[in-house]
Amino acid sequence: MTESSLPRLDDLDVDGKRVIVRCDLNVPMKGREITDDLRIRASIPTLEALLERGARLAVCSHLGRPKGTVVDELRLAPVGTRLGELLDREVRSLGVTIGDEAQKSCDSGTPVVLLENLRFDPGEEKNDPDFAAALASLGDAYVNDAFGSSHRAHASVVGVPERLPSAAGMLLAEEVEKLERLLHDPEHPFIAVLGGAKVSDKLGVIANLLQRVDALIVGGAMAFTLLTARGLDVGRSRVEEDRVDEVRGVLEAADERGIEVLLPTDVVAAESPDEGAVHETVPLGRIGDRMGVDIGPESSALFAQKIRSARTVLWNGPMGIFEIADYAAGTEAVAVAVADATKGGSYTVVGGGDSAAALKQLGMTDSVSHLSTGGGASLELLEGRDLPGVAVLRREGSGP
Ligand code: ADP
Ligand code: MG
Repeated sequence: MTESSLPRLDDLDVDGKRVIVRCDLNVPMKGREITDDLRIRASIPTLEALLERGARLAVCSHLGRPKGTVVDELRLAPVGTRLGELLDREVRSLGVTIGDEAQKSCDSGTPVVLLENLRFDPGEEKNDPDFAAALASLGDAYVNDAFGSSHRAHASVVGVPERLPSAAGMLLAEEVEKLERLLHDPEHPFIAVLGGAKVSDKLGVIANLLQRVDALIVGGAMAFTLLTARGLDVGRSRVEEDRVDEVRGVLEAADERGIEVLLPTDVVAAESPDEGAVHETVPLGRIGDRMGVDIGPESSALFAQKIRSARTVLWNGPMGIFEIADYAAGTEAVAVAVADATKGGSYTVVGGGDSAAALKQLGMTDSVSHLSTGGGASLELLEGRDLPGVAVLRREGSGP
């Protein structure tokens, strides 16, 4: 089947039907308080579109990691309250996921019900056929709008669409389209900027991007494993020793393809990664007994100039420990350069939970072409893998 055959909401007959909508309502919470409702907001357009077309909704999601048992602090009721406010209508939080009570509520004609946290049931993460069938029995049709969960082959992601006529929600369809645009025929120069904690998380993405990009910029802790592979001394900076050989292979592959790899030339060296530690900017090679916690101003300028010259930019991973103000300058410089490229008409995509948090901290979430809501899911898609939750929709069409 072709990529374009992702079944859309419009293809699904929903009038008067009970529709199970898998959302990603896994919001950050402090106790029972929602600290950021971005994911609930992101789910509204699809829910409203379905309601307008006469559907009754059984909304479902996971929250946190309850590991197959009921954890009271991870009940979805507060999410239901917020969802009701945003939809401006009553949302009934059921307190159960499947079974007679859920069945009765879903059949009762209530326009919007919210099922309990899917991961309270061990069948969800195992994609247990009985659990998937019980969940599917609550609806006549299914919509997946949970991009951030679509790399998981869980019951609510793959088991239910195997059993019901299904389609992608607007958020899921948009994420897939915007991210795939990077892989299919991007405008050149295409530059990837990678950073963050672990190179091991991102080796798959790098391997796939090497077939496509013109240059690779690497900062963050990740850069120190690359610098080590190039034979440089990085002091006590975070290095994944067991990945150095693999990274050396990646650098050689980049060389062979003529892809420029830009690494930091100066860094902020600190005595510890903690706030208030003694720190200074030094050229690379002078870190000594300290650790690199941010890229230095020379690297920032070099990276920024390169980013501004690109027509397509993918950025994933902060350049330093941006959570600490003293170590946030490199990440901010990259964010500003990506925003400038966007203003100049380039196509720019930012992915990764912490990168999104960094953009939010800078008040720049609207300054890029696309800010992905899915961390792991966006990385897997950019590795060139078909996400299980997307593949099943393509395979099943809007059948059976
Ligand atoms: P994302 O969620 O955007 O994919 P990651 O999870 O890979 O990003 O990495 C983000 C984390 O990396 C942040 O918590 C940040 O503090 C940390 N980090 C960045 N640079 C360094 C560094 N030089 N040393 C230690 N940690 C770093
Ligand atoms: Mg992260």
